[in-house]
Amino acid sequence: LERKEPNYFGAGPALLPTSVLQQAAQDLINFQGIGLGAGEISHRSAAGANIIESTRQHLVELLDIPDTHEVFFMQGGGTTGFSSIATNLTASFAKKTGRKGTPAYVVTGSWSKKAAEEATRLGFNPDIVLDSKKVDGKFGTIPGTDKWSIPQDLSNTSYLYFCDNETVNGVEFPEFPFEKFPGVEIVADMSSNFLSKKVDVSKYGCIFAGAQKNVGLAGITVYIIKKSLLDHPTEDDLTKLNIPLSPIAFDFPTVVKNKSAYNTIPTFTVHIVDLVLQNLIQKGGLDVQQKANEQKAKLLYEALDEFPSVYKLPVEKSVRSKMNVVFTLADGSDAEFLKAAEERELTGLKGHRSVGGMRASLYNAVSLESVKLLCDFVREYGAEHA
Ligand code: PLP
Repeated sequence: LERKEPNYFGAGPALLPTSVLQQAAQDLINFQGIGLGAGEISHRSAAGANIIESTRQHLVELLDIPDTHEVFFMQGGGTTGFSSIATNLTASFAKKTGRKGTPAYVVTGSWSKKAAEEATRLGFNPDIVLDSKKVDGKFGTIPGTDKWSIPQDLSNTSYLYFCDNETVNGVEFPEFPFEKFPGVEIVADMSSNFLSKKVDVSKYGCIFAGAQKNVGLAGITVYIIKKSLLDHPTEDDLTKLNIPLSPIAFDFPTVVKNKSAYNTIPTFTVHIVDLVLQNLIQKGGLDVQQKANEQKAKLLYEALDEFPSVYKLPVEKSVRSKMNVVFTLADGSDAEFLKAAEERELTGLKGHRSVGGMRASLYNAVSLESVKLLCDFVREYGAEHA
């Protein structure tokens, strides 16, 4: 169960710590000596329930999640979150107000755009409080809130949705302007920067994150939700208010009531999340991880910025992502860059197909050593092509 440490910068599914995978490989065959693998046991058995509970507890410890919030896991990925957030959070709002309300979306990149499109498709007619592409033509900025169209009266805003880190466009909120939305439940997609930094969970109505970037394998999505939002109207009342029902396996109160095991949850995939969490705790928690991530991003941006005639960085400095470093080559020599990088065993650097160029993802499992090797290469290539 050995491998050479990869220098892999893929955006997702992404690198996991080798030690976690080695433990997982053993647990896939014989979990805690029970003679069965972690993926073979029933999600309703004691061992299966223990996996879910242990993962939940480690997440509460790591993120310091207050008692006001609940953790649960669901299949379906981030995209399922786009749909299930809309139906569930609208139901929560309807329970409190007796109205359907209107959700508000902050669009700062292709993932929040997709989320807003899904809310539209499901008939929620969202307010788009910001579409940053309309500001700079390319999703490379997050303008100040004076440029946002925030409704004067927020009493009908069912929830406010944003994506904390836009994986494709490389834009990350340094800080979300919570104070501009008093009384509104804030929902954040943290799929690509979950557990990359400390977060004050108490400020959020709901946080969700597909596991396959920073915390595990594809197949599981982590949700943290304010407990008060788990109260929904009856199905009859929802229908009267013209609010679509959530599919039962994605109905948050149902999933929580059943401790994330309403239907068959992939226990092995949850267990990997647990191993990643334990690994983070052992390494000193999110303070340590956040500092390491800041250092990695600083080093790479510095190397790229040294050669402005070679590397073009489309994102404004103040909102550059610490997780997904996006750049293009001024002379269009993408293929040459990627080939030369691969010869150095620096892989996974191709940008998302929708935007092209390069993207170096610096998730938690990417080591400082890997980033330093990438910086050396960026400088050599830059010097040759300047
Ligand atoms: N949200 C963000 C920020 C993402 O980066 C992604 C995928 O890359 C998604 C949502 C969609 O996730 P999934 O492919 O699991 O549906």
